[in-house]
Amino acid sequence: MDNDIEEVLFDQKQIQEAADRLGQTITEDYAGQKPLLLSVLKGAYLWTADVIRKIDLYVDLEFIKISSYHGGVSSSNEIALVTDVQSDVKGRDILILEDIVDTGQSLQFLEDLLLSRGAHSVRVATLLDKKEGRKVDIKADYVGFDVRNEFVVGYGLDYKGLYRNLPYVGILKQSIYS
Ligand code: 5GP
Ligand code: MG
Ligand code: MG
Repeated sequence: MDNDIEEVLFDQKQIQEAADRLGQTITEDYAGQKPLLLSVLKGAYLWTADVIRKIDLYVDLEFIKISSYHGGVSSSNEIALVTDVQSDVKGRDILILEDIVDTGQSLQFLEDLLLSRGAHSVRVATLLDKKEGRKVDIKADYVGFDVRNEFVVGYGLDYKGLYRNLPYVGILKQSIYS
């Protein structure tokens, strides 16, 4: 798999440091609260595992699965809810855990959904933020790393279902998808 990668951007150690940094800030910001951590499958599963262990609070953990990418390398406008959360979000302070925010459409979809169900607050902690890709005006509250407008894989992020198990985030060689 390493041969398919153009450039390694963030290795396991850097990602751990980001989880540490965000975990501390989140712990301070939510002091006295019991947030509901909402991990977005599948991409955010590793990041979730890292960051949740750095949050020193009583938390609930839920998963939600949405689809936006249809397996390619560019975002789609059509977001679908694939697997819903298993508990009531009414009145809850929700912290969405995402792998990457690109156009922002997935995040917008989730925020709208959760607020329409009566969530008290919705914030997001994303491993990666591709700010150049934004199509909707939405900001991530907690960001591990900013990334350039390149297609990245690894550490949970896939191309056609593959590369999620790479222990780092890297840019996929264009020859793999063109
Ligand atoms: P958005 O709706 O913000 O455009 O995109 C959100 C989702 O698209 C992410 O959660 C992720 O699953 C996927 N995505 C966006 N950019 C990338 C990327 O560079 N690499 C991979 N593997 N997935 C991406
Ligand atoms: Mg995602
Ligand atoms: Mg994907």
